[in-house]
Amino acid sequence: MKHNWLQKLDVNVPQLGLGCMRLPTDGDTIDYQQAQRIVDYAMANGVNYFDTAYMYHNGESQYFLGKALAKYPRESYFLTNKLPIWYCKEPGDMEKIFQDQLQRCRTTYFDFYFMHSMNDEHWAMAKQLGLVSFMEQKKKDGSAKAIGFSFHGNLPLLEEMVEAADWDFVQLQLNYLDWDNQNAKGFYELLEKKGIPCFVMEPVRGGYLATLTPSAQEVFRQAAPDRSMVSWAYQWLLSKPNVKVVLTGSSSLEQFVENVSLFNTLPPLSEKEEAVIQQAVKELNSIPTIPCTGCRYCMDCPSGVDIPAVFAAYNYRASHHTMAQVRKKYEEIPAGSRADACVSCRVCCDKCPQSIDIPAQLARVKEEIYAE
Ligand code: SF4
Ligand code: SF4
Repeated sequence: MKHNWLQKLDVNVPQLGLGCMRLPTDGDTIDYQQAQRIVDYAMANGVNYFDTAYMYHNGESQYFLGKALAKYPRESYFLTNKLPIWYCKEPGDMEKIFQDQLQRCRTTYFDFYFMHSMNDEHWAMAKQLGLVSFMEQKKKDGSAKAIGFSFHGNLPLLEEMVEAADWDFVQLQLNYLDWDNQNAKGFYELLEKKGIPCFVMEPVRGGYLATLTPSAQEVFRQAAPDRSMVSWAYQWLLSKPNVKVVLTGSSSLEQFVENVSLFNTLPPLSEKEEAVIQQAVKELNSIPTIPCTGCRYCMDCPSGVDIPAVFAAYNYRASHHTMAQVRKKYEEIPAGSRADACVSCRVCCDKCPQSIDIPAQLARVKEEIYAE
């Protein structure tokens, strides 16, 4: 696995990191045996970067990683974690969560520590509770070797945040579809200008770029019949010089083995390939979808709406299914968990990293699905 040198920190990080938000599960809990096989394969193949967060798998991702990595020397891998400021009511809560995270992960330090999912609301909370000073203190005492944040806001916010501290990295949602659609280009270029390494989350947009729509698939198939859809997404990312780590979640060992193989073998992106990707983007943008990645940060809805399931059913139309088929998919969601259960309380809205106006989109789904 190719590693990238982070000059300021003087460390070599692998181009591919294992995101531990969507590990293999056995019902509601992590399948430790399957997930351990992925971790072991990662360590054997130079993918020694493991990304977790307080809330992944309802906290269990941290316990799993602590256990799975215990047999490896601590200095042989990089371990991240993230502070969810929205769980903090007072400054002391940040320390409580941090200590809890160290304990859950069976470690005394994190290599990369993040302010999690920063948007306008979370940044306002961070300022109120003194999160930046807290992060700086953790770096000073060595319990966080490097500090940064994962970002889901707009350009003015990023401009303000990059000036707020001497950040070691910033993690962006970056992929060829969000480059223009969500102004990821502007974010990336700002980090490049500031000399801040860019780490990448959602490289395949919650799986959407691995499946695509039939017309976008056709564009790629015509260009290279034997290539997987996902390989285009990775190749595009690897052509960006300030992309230092790309996180991919893997819910099976087979999927992870394929990712490692792609990262090891993909050639640089040619101009012709870039043009193919842009043609596919045109096709993707020709069908309206809701940009939900299925992350479930918005859950649980107090009224029982299964928000990601409703949006997934709606987005089913992108595969050129008829509205009758979309309706069928939608009606597989139990009554009481569909869009009509939404009472517009807006409890979910600030939690969505994609800034989706959830009640408005639920209303749209309800209307459009039954319009024909
Ligand atoms: S706005 Fe609707 S979907 Fe969101 S939490 Fe309230 S009831 Fe649930
Ligand atoms: S609506 Fe937003 S928060 Fe909820 S699953 Fe989709 S992307 Fe995640």
